Amino acid sequence: LWPQHATWNGPIVMIGLGSIGRGTLPLILRHIACDRSKFTIIDPDDHNKHIADKEGIAFIKKGLTPKNYKSVLTPLLTTGEQAFIVNLSVDVSSIEIQKLAQQTGSLYLDTVIEPWPGFYYNSKLDNAARTNYAMREHLLALKEKYKGAHTSVSCCGANPGMVSWYVKQALLDIADATKVKIKEPKTRAEWGKLMKRLGVKGIHVAERDTQRAKKPKPFDTFVNTWSVEGFISEGLQPAELGWGTNEKKLPPGGKKHKTGCGAAIYITRPGAETKVRSWTPTPGPQYGFLVTHNEAISIADYFTVREGRKVTYRPTCHYAYHPSNDAVLSLHEMFGNGGKKQSNIHILEADEILDGRDELGVLIYGHKKNAYWYGSQLTIEEAKKLAPYQNATGLQVTSAVLAGMVWAIENPKAGVVETDEMDFRRCLDVQRPYLGQMTGVYTDWNPLQDRQTLFAEDIDKRDPWQFTNILVK
Ligand code: NAD
Repeated sequence: LWPQHATWNGPIVMIGLGSIGRGTLPLILRHIACDRSKFTIIDPDDHNKHIADKEGIAFIKKGLTPKNYKSVLTPLLTTGEQAFIVNLSVDVSSIEIQKLAQQTGSLYLDTVIEPWPGFYYNSKLDNAARTNYAMREHLLALKEKYKGAHTSVSCCGANPGMVSWYVKQALLDIADATKVKIKEPKTRAEWGKLMKRLGVKGIHVAERDTQRAKKPKPFDTFVNTWSVEGFISEGLQPAELGWGTNEKKLPPGGKKHKTGCGAAIYITRPGAETKVRSWTPTPGPQYGFLVTHNEAISIADYFTVREGRKVTYRPTCHYAYHPSNDAVLSLHEMFGNGGKKQSNIHILEADEILDGRDELGVLIYGHKKNAYWYGSQLTIEEAKKLAPYQNATGLQVTSAVLAGMVWAIENPKAGVVETDEMDFRRCLDVQRPYLGQMTGVYTDWNPLQDRQTLFAEDIDKRDPWQFTNILVK
């Protein structure tokens, strides 16, 4: 018997039934007591409709657009009972749907701040405007406007999402291991002070996906373990990172923003073509891609310490993503062809995967014990046993969606929230059964180790964790 974490009597509207939607559906039905007859899924593509049919869930084959989203969604959200919108689509504006959620009194959750089509590939927008920083500033404005209103959870997947909960658990672990006596922080300011006190310089969201397909990647096909559309669009945004107070010099092409919270910089090159040195338990040292992600900015912002208006502390924070080998090859092929998307795209389903796991955690560095990786190591075999319709990558995301929904139902008047602000213990409690092995491990590695010596490099020998040593130039 599965534990029921919450009850939802009103309508549930799921936008998007792709790799994440199809994996989320059975988890909602398993753990949230709800009425299937009030559950609707909307997607212009019906390739997963059979899953909705099998579960007895209504499916509307339609793409939401700036013109039709109000007329399609409003009747579903105004039946007299409070509705819950779960947005797991691409090409649908998170900001606009969140506004509609507020206007109709609905709860809301998504896994990324997604724009309408015409944003990611708009060559008329300058690089600063195409950043996640810019999109997050719209979210922060919404947050200000809807303080204390209906709960609207932004970016609650694996990352962004779950990794923000990991950061807090990892800080408590580091405090314990370094014998720093603390009271567990309750407020944002206290969390920032704890991170500062521990001497943390920065955080990598350090991921290695070793899932291998049974069939080798075909020519002219982009293969990934989650949304190909999502990965290409974020991979072609400028690289971005939360920019810590420890950093001495901007990287080549590094730019500060002229407005907004000031927590991040961007680099004038595509994130998926920008490599960084990082570390996860299985490979040890590895290259990751500095793909822009909301959490790089939200975590850096959340843990910023200020005296008055002056910033006295901020961690550096960025993604260091080694996707599956097929995805690495797919990027190589795509960038080699002028960044043009392949003719075919393919997301690996659980049964197409031979072996491997998604190892996704936070590498917190700069403190007394050097660096600590805390995260989930979930194998494809475990994922297949735990839940249907998804691989290991998917399950780390969908279980975070479940946890976020449960938290939202329990906290319906929190307004617009980021995952950094949610109860990390409650969320991880709901999620943990789906995360496989949870590992916390210290390492002596730093980015000055194991480097080639045949060519002179521009490095900072005195301060190993400077971003200039992490960036592959
Ligand atoms: P996917 O490409 O498999 O599915 C996206 C679905 O959205 C497709 O079925 C597509 O038909 C549908 N869609 C496209 N246009 C639409 C429209 N106008 N209206 C309604 N539906 C539309 O992607 P996925 O892997 O399921 O990912 C879904 C979203 O979740 C993406 O935005 C992705 O970036 C995000 N994501 C977040 C995380 C995280 O950890 N935070 C992880 C994976 C994916």
